[in-house]
Amino acid sequence: MDRRKFVGAIAAAAGSAAPLPAAQGGKPVREKPLNADYWGPQYYDQQERQHLNEVLDTGRPFRWYGRGSQPPMKVATFEKEFAARMNTKYALAVTSGTAALETAMAALQIGPGDEVIIPAWTWHSSATAVVRAGGLPVFAEIDESFNIDPKDIEHRITPKTKLIMAVHLQGCPADMDAILPIARKHGIKVLEDCAQSVGGSYKGKPLGSMGDISIYSHQLNKTITAGEGGAVVTNDPVLFERASRFHDLGSIRGLHGGIVGKPVLDVFVGANYRMSEFTGGVMLAQLRKLDRIVGDVRSNARRVYDGIRDLSGIRFRHLPDPAGDLGTAVFIRFNTKQQREKFQSMMRAENVPVAPPGGSVVMPVLPYIVNKVTVHPDWPTWTSPRGKSIKYGPATCPRTLDILDRFAGPAIDPKYTTRETDDIIAAIRKVYPAVV
Ligand SMILES: *Cc1c(COP(=O)(O)O)cnc(C)c1O
Repeated sequence: MDRRKFVGAIAAAAGSAAPLPAAQGGKPVREKPLNADYWGPQYYDQQERQHLNEVLDTGRPFRWYGRGSQPPMKVATFEKEFAARMNTKYALAVTSGTAALETAMAALQIGPGDEVIIPAWTWHSSATAVVRAGGLPVFAEIDESFNIDPKDIEHRITPKTKLIMAVHLQGCPADMDAILPIARKHGIKVLEDCAQSVGGSYKGKPLGSMGDISIYSHQLNKTITAGEGGAVVTNDPVLFERASRFHDLGSIRGLHGGIVGKPVLDVFVGANYRMSEFTGGVMLAQLRKLDRIVGDVRSNARRVYDGIRDLSGIRFRHLPDPAGDLGTAVFIRFNTKQQREKFQSMMRAENVPVAPPGGSVVMPVLPYIVNKVTVHPDWPTWTSPRGKSIKYGPATCPRTLDILDRFAGPAIDPKYTTRETDDIIAAIRKVYPAVV
């Protein structure tokens, strides 16, 4: 008998052995798989219902005017309270996070020839908004926070670089203290894409309050939701005016004109991304619950971290500001993809499923990016000499691909009971030592 087996036998005899993992014939931690749910709808109640009924009963579904002498106020009130919550001067409600990104591109006047630095791991819209504006997406590697690696930004800056997108992915704030000085040094703007981290913070500041302009999504998978929806925030009155005009066919309405004081821009070609009063009403009710939802998910995540932190050798996703993290998931780091996959299959056997980083895609390896496919062959993004010469594909983001292969963890639901977070802890305590 070697020493390890000997010590194990002694421990077993003393009744203190770690329980046998289900994958090795032990009893699973849970009888049925643990299932994380969408957050926002779990908090729907009389408040959302009342706003919807008011819009129906008054017959006023459009934000700018309708029956009666006073303008409808659901979207307007949502904008006012959202700006206050995010600690910014202005907020504009729009129809989606993607619409918010396209509106932000317009506000910043991103266009043909302009380059935008984006993390290689993000949601499609971060890059497609740049392409649809005619600009060129340039991808930077992520680090072990799964956010853009601040050390991989500077060498990608050219005289044409106009913007850096700091995307706060899967609940975790990007390292703004490292990103903002790089942008300032080169005279480049910063956009915070907070779609996956609505309600999170960085060193006490709300996500979205640090960049030149920021966007949020209220799609089902995000913190608060009306199914679809989005918002743009900024402290700059001209960026807000251009955003408001772009989202409403080039004009600025009385309410927003009054908010900026004196409009300074002429009418230009815009789009229609206006939010309806139904969406505005649901979002207003959800916004008033944001701090509760964030508090619930954070405390569940903290409980799981605290329950496994002492495991020998365990390492987690890098959190640039642990207190600001939403707690969307608790990601554990492995040395190899094989270990990560063994962890996943053993956790599945415990009926406590875990998943790799999710909700985003490795943009530079997508065929439509590699092959530079746009709706029109003369689209300006990839027809310039620089656009023609830029290469995408897996060789441009090896570290991103490696990092995403080596992490997995449980999603955290704000409504998990103590029993459910205990099950997550128990399963990881059983499985992790058997994997590494
Ligand atoms: C979801 C998401 C968006 C787009 O939001 P939609 O409301 O789905 O259009 C943009 N950026 C990121 C990082 C996202 O996760």
